[in-house]
Amino acid sequence: MSKYLSPRFDSLDAYTPGEQPRDQKYIKLNTNECPYPPSSKVIEAIDKEKNLLNLYPDPTAKCLKTAIADNLGLNADNIFVANGSDEVLALSFMAFCDKDTGVAYPDISYGFYSVYADLFTLDSKVIPLKDDFSVCPNDYFNLGRTIFIANPNAPTGLCLSLYDIENILINNKNNIVVIDEAYVDFGGESTVKLLDRYENLLVVRTFSKSRNLAGGRVGFALGSKELIADLELMKFSFNPYNINRLSLVSATEAMKDTVYFDDCVSKIKDTRTFLVNELEGLGFNVIPSCANFIFAKKDGISGEELYLKLKNNGILIRHFNKDRISDYIRITIGTKDEIISLIDTIKTIIDEVK
Ligand code: PMP
Repeated sequence: MSKYLSPRFDSLDAYTPGEQPRDQKYIKLNTNECPYPPSSKVIEAIDKEKNLLNLYPDPTAKCLKTAIADNLGLNADNIFVANGSDEVLALSFMAFCDKDTGVAYPDISYGFYSVYADLFTLDSKVIPLKDDFSVCPNDYFNLGRTIFIANPNAPTGLCLSLYDIENILINNKNNIVVIDEAYVDFGGESTVKLLDRYENLLVVRTFSKSRNLAGGRVGFALGSKELIADLELMKFSFNPYNINRLSLVSATEAMKDTVYFDDCVSKIKDTRTFLVNELEGLGFNVIPSCANFIFAKKDGISGEELYLKLKNNGILIRHFNKDRISDYIRITIGTKDEIISLIDTIKTIIDEVK
């Protein structure tokens, strides 16, 4: 750290992304990417667009917004797009929180919420999940804060019902409730259908998980046209060309190719069922997952040991060295073959530690 860094960042604890090894070949089940490549229509669009990289991209992202709007039955002015949902979240923290309006989020959830709260020097109310890792809706009533809830939650994979979310919205009329639906396509019910009834709802989505584009970095938000205008104000005051040309056309085509999307999502859900059954057969306690990952633990072997042993065997999963969840491992749903290799390796590891 240099002597020039603003002292307000002295204790900033940056987000730690999951490992992204490029040198060694791993079965990569650690960062909830889609195991399948982008749709062939995406590749064709990139091929055409690459010759235009000398020109700035469209800062209004009209084509992409129209594709999302058509897919979800909304209007383009209900849609905001950005460089990954991380950027959508960051701009939401910027737009809707300040020294009078702090934030609230669960103690076990997406790690970036606390990082952004610190980055923007906000007061945070960190609300413990219940012992079974579920969110207690009443804990979020009338807090006078901007609320961030991932639904399905990460890393647990559990989801709240629409009824519970609606209650949180009703009991926070004067504050924004951000529902981060990064994983909603794999289970759970989207809050999109509540948008026309709750002006305080902002839904955040991503192309990184169910739309095979983690490397493209595209995320979006859905909300009233006034909330979207607030986010546009942030974006045009920060980085108007936040989505590059290749990512814009990629995301547009990915959104249009609903056949490929349905096929990939359904394969992932089938593989998730297979993995859960296999792990339960091996004595794991698996939290019911609505996402493209599962969260599980096994008595007699620590989360860290399992993570390290799998890594030694060429398989990357995620372990969080954090209170309440350090016994658990999070496994991204890969291809069926990858998951079969994982299970075989876990069986060998379990036999060794017996
Ligand atoms: N929200 C949640 C709950 C996530 O788990 C992630 C990524 N792991 C994100 C948002 C950010 O995704 P991206 O920036 O790739 O859209």
